[in-house]
Amino acid sequence: MTRKFSGDRLLVATHNEGKLDEMRALLAPFGVTVVGAKEMDLPEPEETGTTFVENARIKAHAAAKATGLPALSDDSGIEVDALVGAPGVYTADWAETETGRDFVMAMERTHAKIVEGGSDQPWIARFCSTLVLAWPDGHDEVFPGTVEGEVVWPMRGAEGHGYDPCFQPKGYDITFAEMDPAEKNRISHRADAFAKFVAGCFD
Ligand code: IMP
Repeated sequence: MTRKFSGDRLLVATHNEGKLDEMRALLAPFGVTVVGAKEMDLPEPEETGTTFVENARIKAHAAAKATGLPALSDDSGIEVDALVGAPGVYTADWAETETGRDFVMAMERTHAKIVEGGSDQPWIARFCSTLVLAWPDGHDEVFPGTVEGEVVWPMRGAEGHGYDPCFQPKGYDITFAEMDPAEKNRISHRADAFAKFVAGCFD
C-alpha cells in the first residue's frame, strides 16, 4: 500500500527555480502550499548515486530529515540513445562551469558528441524524471516518469529551462522551449511521474 500524503505543506527539495515553478503549477490544484529548499536554507546534498532513483532518494531524505516535513524531490535528465543513455543522471553535470551552469554549452556538447558518433537522425531521446516523496521517519515512495522524443538542432525557443530548446517531444514539431508551459506541464516526464505520485499519495 502506498502511504498517503496528509498535511497542507510540502517541501520541494530542489534549488532549481525552473523545477520549483513546474512543481508549484502541478501541485496548485491540490491546495498544497509548496515550500522550496532555498526558502528553508537547506544545503544541496551531494548527488552521489548512479541512478535517478538513488539521487532522488538522497535529496528527499536529506530534506525531510532536516525540516521534519514530508519532502518531494525530483531527479531528472535526458537520455540520448546515440550516446548510450548519456548524459542521463549526469545531465546537470554536463552544464557545470566555474561560474555556474551553462545549458547552451551543455546542449552544444551533447550535439557535438552525437555528430562525432555519426548516428543518423532522428536522434531518439527521452527526458526522465523520478519523483521521491520521503517522510521524516525514513519511509519513501518512488514514482518514475518519461517523455519520448528526439534531440533537434539548432536549438529553438525561449520558454522552459535546461535542455528544453533541443528536445522535441514525439508527435510535435516544436521543442519544449517553443511550447506553452501549460502544454509542457501536461505531457512532460515530470507530469508523467507526477500523475503516478498523485494517484498513489492523494485520496
Ligand atoms: P538534477 O535532477 O537536478 O540532477 O538535474 C537534472 C537536469 O536535467 C537539469 O538541470 C536540466 O538540465 C535537465 N532537465 C531535467 N528536466 C528538464 C526539463 O523538463 N527540461 C529541460 N531540462 C531538464
